[in-house]
Amino acid sequence: MNLANTLRRIALAHPGRPALYDGDQLRHDYGALAARAARLAGALRAQGLVPGDRVVLFMRNHPAYLELMYGCWWAGLAIVPVNAKLHLQEAQWIAGHAQASWAFITADVGTGLQVPGRCIDIESPDYAALCTGAAAPLEARRPDDLAWLFYTSGTTGRPKGVMLTHRNLMTMGLTYFIDVDAIVPDDAIVYGAPMSHGAGIYAIPHVMAGARHVVPASGSFDPAELFALGRSIGRLCMFAAPTIVKRLVDHAEAHGLDGGGFKTIVYGGAPMYVEDIKRALRVLGPRFVQIYGQGETPMVATALSRATLLDTAHPRHAERLASVGLAQTPVEVRVADTEGRTLPLGEVGEVLVRGDTVMAGYWRDPEATAAAVREGWLFTGDMGSMDADGFLTLKDRSKDLVISGGSNIYPREVEEVLLLAPGVAEVSVVGAPDPEWGEVVVAFVVPQAGQAVDTAALDAVCLERIARFKRPKRYVVVEALPKNNYGKVLKTELRQRLKDEALRR
Ligand code: AMP
Repeated sequence: MNLANTLRRIALAHPGRPALYDGDQLRHDYGALAARAARLAGALRAQGLVPGDRVVLFMRNHPAYLELMYGCWWAGLAIVPVNAKLHLQEAQWIAGHAQASWAFITADVGTGLQVPGRCIDIESPDYAALCTGAAAPLEARRPDDLAWLFYTSGTTGRPKGVMLTHRNLMTMGLTYFIDVDAIVPDDAIVYGAPMSHGAGIYAIPHVMAGARHVVPASGSFDPAELFALGRSIGRLCMFAAPTIVKRLVDHAEAHGLDGGGFKTIVYGGAPMYVEDIKRALRVLGPRFVQIYGQGETPMVATALSRATLLDTAHPRHAERLASVGLAQTPVEVRVADTEGRTLPLGEVGEVLVRGDTVMAGYWRDPEATAAAVREGWLFTGDMGSMDADGFLTLKDRSKDLVISGGSNIYPREVEEVLLLAPGVAEVSVVGAPDPEWGEVVVAFVVPQAGQAVDTAALDAVCLERIARFKRPKRYVVVEALPKNNYGKVLKTELRQRLKDEALRR
């Protein structure tokens, strides 16, 4: 089982199908893309790399990303994609921990990275030379062989290397077709989010289906560029974190655009608030699907289908909009106590996942592996509850829970309510240490452009809808929330800010 075989079979049967676009320019058809992957594989093998070796990709989104993913797999190597926003020293730590032998970089991101073998700028003649030599035969891989070493964002401590095998990613890819979306060759996945993460992982089902791949010329997220690609290329499919979806919706509203150029927008990776998905559906139309997953079970835990999002007549539609949907087909999902005992329906506990997408373990970290995967069940660290129909609703990660005066408060619930207040664009709720209550609820609020928020109005929406003890004791109005490269709000930074303030006092 080799993921690169999915590219080879499409290239053999349909060599002339358009495969890879640089902006709106077609670069390679499937025949040429597979030929480049095979030649890259040949060059890497000829230069001494052997199956199982790791290759770091520390670069911005670029058409070469796709060539390298499949070229490395073709040669039996494992890729180590590194978040392009990391500091050179952080990437260096990952390259060392992964014991990577080679690296590919873009000069803007990876200049200075050291590896024992070669570190190649993909825009240099050296890279071009690697793509012109003799092709290698496709290397046979076992299902449990490593394909992708995925470093977690590591907001607490050092990142961990999640070992994803060919079987994990093959299962993820096949699952896309049944739980997320059908793909036809004319569809075009557009990489508007980092390819080192979910967006790159979703290349796999789109290669399986022989669809088109589009890397925006900017190499990053620019709403105007994406809408323009929607007009020139059409049938765009993209994976986006909720904050990115929000920026697309803002842009569409400001410029009177609709979602016509997009076929499907898959959102996930962080909570999508009910008000935000309602607005996204209103402005961009019926193009959304939600997934919930994590690096340790990439893109596959639950999904909330397009049909469910649109089924407004269903008596539990409101609850379902706030949920992350049903277990995806190849996995079992349950909610358990800390010992792994299943909790009754409706009770909040830790979300556990078992199935063929669950990682093989953490690279060189048997202790962390034993803590995360017990008897095949992945302990996700996410808190949630299951309803009688099998819909999972996430609360918060256990470390984000606020305990005030002995009561548990789920920030997500408070955030959903505050977003209903006039003039609020974004909000993030955290706990701040408090001598009397242990912790108190603090809300960071970003006003909509040109508007002011009135804390009395914020209090009023809370009093109307949630228990008094859940109401924030303090509101901090900020221009923006700290976010990582994937668009996730960094609650650790918000909490740290409050701790620093308390110390100064
Ligand atoms: P990562 O491993 O960086 O992809 O982060 C995974 C984490 O993001 C999960 O454990 C959840 O806490 C969060 N997450 C992923 N998908 C969703 C979703 N659809 N809704 C809410 N949180 C999500």
